[in-house]
Amino acid sequence: MATAETLLREVFGFDAFRPGQQEIVEAVASGQDTLAIMPTGGGKSLCYQLPALVRHGLTLVISPLIALMRDQVRALRESGVEAGALTSGNTEEETEAVWEAIHAGRLKLLYVAPERLASASAMEMLRRLDVSLIAVDEAHCVSQWGHDFRPDYLRIGELREALDVPVAAFTATADEETRGEIVRRLFGTRTPRIFLRGFDRPNIHLAFAAKDSPRKQILTFASARRGQSGIVYCGTRARTESLAQGLREAGMEAIHYHGAMDPEARRAAELRFQQEDGLIVVATVAFGMGVDKPDIRWVAHADLPKSIEAYYQEIGRAGRDGAPAETLTLFGPDDIRLRRSQIDEGLAPPERKAADHGRLNALLGLAEALECRRATLLRYFGETCEHCGNCDLCDRPPETFDATLAVRKALSAMLRTEEWFGAGHLIDILTGHETDKIRERGHDKLPTFGVGGEFKRSEWQAIFRQMMGRDLVRPNAERHGALFMTDAALPILKGEDSIRLRRDSLKAAKGNRPAAR
Ligand code: ADP
Ligand code: ZN
Repeated sequence: MATAETLLREVFGFDAFRPGQQEIVEAVASGQDTLAIMPTGGGKSLCYQLPALVRHGLTLVISPLIALMRDQVRALRESGVEAGALTSGNTEEETEAVWEAIHAGRLKLLYVAPERLASASAMEMLRRLDVSLIAVDEAHCVSQWGHDFRPDYLRIGELREALDVPVAAFTATADEETRGEIVRRLFGTRTPRIFLRGFDRPNIHLAFAAKDSPRKQILTFASARRGQSGIVYCGTRARTESLAQGLREAGMEAIHYHGAMDPEARRAAELRFQQEDGLIVVATVAFGMGVDKPDIRWVAHADLPKSIEAYYQEIGRAGRDGAPAETLTLFGPDDIRLRRSQIDEGLAPPERKAADHGRLNALLGLAEALECRRATLLRYFGETCEHCGNCDLCDRPPETFDATLAVRKALSAMLRTEEWFGAGHLIDILTGHETDKIRERGHDKLPTFGVGGEFKRSEWQAIFRQMMGRDLVRPNAERHGALFMTDAALPILKGEDSIRLRRDSLKAAKGNRPAAR
């Protein structure tokens, strides 16, 4: 049978679980009664949709919102999952098609509006189906004291008794009184497992750095932590091997790990990491799922992860024992370009690509955050946090500057060359650098030629990187990565909005080798 990991990727198109999802999915799939409290937008639906595919027969989903049910059914069908809804909003044909799928034994998820439970005939009909799980969305609707009380939700307890199957209940309302009431009314005498875990991992220190000489940066980070177990994540297999060798040459215990190694070698590497103290594994994302080592003291990313979810999952492998752990994520314009083109060149349908760009943008926003990283990260997952005191930005608040004019100049150089060029050439224009290419194209005649002399080349690179990070510009996959302007940049170009950027990244960039053009 397909594993949860495979289904997550292949059916739902996600590269990693969100915080908390994996534990809930495992519990629900294995038939435990569960109550999960997750913030809105945290990704509750996956926690019953994925188990529904693993379990036999049919999963009943009870949800109070008809529009939401129809949305989910449509999305599931587009992903190739047999799902249907019985609601008052159905056309006759829709209802018929749902019944046909049920009788053919094909349907995996059946969404039912709570009103349906009020009729004896519907209850009788549900009893005759091969139901193996009841999922209850917005479970707080069962609470009479809450603001969303739905009398029909009280029948779910009855339904559970009649069908005698596990119940998985979900809500974003965490107060204790409501929780107690949900348990009493939905689970009766049974005791569900309750998942109420904030997403925050306060013992993990968060830090990002502009990638200038990644090999040296990783060696420095690792050698300051000699004797501690750590993971270095790399974007390519070749890089895991060369970086592991570099660490060994610097006198550290390091091995590589990637998906092209044979299963035996992989198992041996996992075992060594598990058992030895102070070993470093330099790995692709293939490493980690099966690793349960509580005292991993640090995780470094030599290359930018795929999405904010992947980032969270990968750094989350550090410090499971609750003791302090450290992380460092390197990122540069090449990472952004690579991740963007991986999405663009993938086979996913357009909406999924747009969502993937969004998840990458969220990670880039985190990389270029102007204040507390943890606050930025948790906000994305629906939680809040004040200044955490345990991230690089809390340690050293970054200095910012008004970059409105600089960004406008950069955009103007882009537009005047009709979005046909990459950052290197645009910077030549801005700084008035007369290369052959500049002369050949007559770009020394442009009004923007040389208007950006207040910044050095390396500083412009940092500005462009931050512009990419804020999704003001994107590389065009069909034009070899030439930059184009996104709608988000329009208000700045038109002078309707201003923008601040980080000054420290400009300084950090000073040590850069001159970039190839
Ligand atoms: P809620 O908890 O509010 O019901 P949803 O289940 O609707 O949240 O999920 C919120 C959003 O998160 C959706 O757009 C969904 O596609 C996305 N999402 C859920 N799980 C993941 C994941 N593992 N990786 C990336 N995105 C995810
Ligand atoms: Zn912080």
